[in-house]
Amino acid sequence: MSRSAHPAGPRHADVLPEGHYTAPAADLNVLDPKVWAQTVTRTESGSVSVGGIDVATLAEEFGTPAYFVDETDFRARARAWRTAFGHDADVFYAGKAFLSRAVVRWLDEEGLNLDVCSGGELATALSAGMPAERIAFHGNNKSVAEITQAVEVGVGRIVLDSFQEIVRVAHIAQSLGKRQRVQIRVTVGVEAHTHEFIATAHEDQKFGIALADGQAAEAVRRALTLDGLELIGIHSHIGSQIFDMAGFEVAARRVVSLLAQIRDEHGVELPEIDLGGGLGIAYTSDDDPREPHEIAKALGEIVTRECEAARLRTPRISVEPGRAIVGPTAFTLYEVGTVKPLEGLRTYVSVDGGMSDNIRTALYDAEYSVALVSRTSEAEPMLVRVVGKHCESGDIVVKDAFLPSDLAPGDLIAVPATGAYCRSMASNYNHALRPPVVAVRDGEARVIVRRETEEDLLRLDVG
Ligand SMILES: *Cc1c(COP(=O)(O)O)cnc(C)c1O
Repeated sequence: MSRSAHPAGPRHADVLPEGHYTAPAADLNVLDPKVWAQTVTRTESGSVSVGGIDVATLAEEFGTPAYFVDETDFRARARAWRTAFGHDADVFYAGKAFLSRAVVRWLDEEGLNLDVCSGGELATALSAGMPAERIAFHGNNKSVAEITQAVEVGVGRIVLDSFQEIVRVAHIAQSLGKRQRVQIRVTVGVEAHTHEFIATAHEDQKFGIALADGQAAEAVRRALTLDGLELIGIHSHIGSQIFDMAGFEVAARRVVSLLAQIRDEHGVELPEIDLGGGLGIAYTSDDDPREPHEIAKALGEIVTRECEAARLRTPRISVEPGRAIVGPTAFTLYEVGTVKPLEGLRTYVSVDGGMSDNIRTALYDAEYSVALVSRTSEAEPMLVRVVGKHCESGDIVVKDAFLPSDLAPGDLIAVPATGAYCRSMASNYNHALRPPVVAVRDGEARVIVRRETEEDLLRLDVG
């Protein structure tokens, strides 16, 4: 069994049981709107278009493999999150899901804030004009240079991740004559993935400071005594690709009880809590994600109820969706290179990309869908595995799916829901050239991240 290593064990990666695949859809030509970006449709000629542009035209102009992001859909999702949470909450887009200067501008225009977790992400955000006070800086091992830059430019908050970092950030802020707004990231003992979560006393992972054994309370005590820090709240992020709100409920309850403890011990009511990201999206037709307004309502109710019970003023809530905003808005377009039937097993469909543009299948056993998009077909469905061109048998893009049995070299196929953690985790394995990201909107397509060239590769290799 080739189960890949998720820190919480295979049960907690976004996986389905070994050997699982859904039966073929009744009609493989139909695109399930749940997994495809908003403006993706099949045209009368049978090919697929996004933003009003045919995929064949896009492939001709931009090449394959390439990521196409539906800007209309991205903006709509960003707006839906912002309006769902209204004026009582802040939405921070998690830049690690996918960040580029165009994306930063879209977020800025739609009124969202931004999470970054490295100097590179911060530089991208600032260079696209995101106001520093709307940026939050994350990470379990921010360098002194990163912290210094973040404090200097005046980021809205730094999320402190360890006892050493509390002192480090305080010292840097003080030496710059500043008081930095900070939150403390706590681990609440909830590990949540997809349809299940486990609540434990201790978490065996690198992020945050444990609520257990009074550690988080001690971190708060220390932060409150340091002049360089203004402690504004508590942060919790419990997992990824979560559909079930129960994990958030346990997390919120535990964070609120810490707030009550802080009030009792220090006479301070911290004004903010951040419940992190991790909201799931549909990668296949089997997934049923919740709408932002349902999530906002559920989270708001949980926090309000817990605060009333603890007689606390309800803090300002923030959330940090990454995948849930950008994930569904893009697809990867590939050209089929070879089709290899393995008698009695399945047919291997090799495409011109692979694990270098989508590592999630190899890394997490993630599930994806796939469709023939350059034409329709009435041929019988065949069970396929879509694989890449890398020198590695684990180079799988879509583990189990159905495509028409007349699939042939030269056909274009597309994998939907690749907006998050695909380009941002892309690599140069086998000296692959990382694909471009092309934004499509209202009949216009423009490159927002260009394709790498051999010249780019050779420029880094200084001989
Ligand atoms: C990764 C991450 C997120 C975003 O997670 P998604 O699954 O993309 O929503 C939000 N907050 C923190 C602290 C993270 O590490």
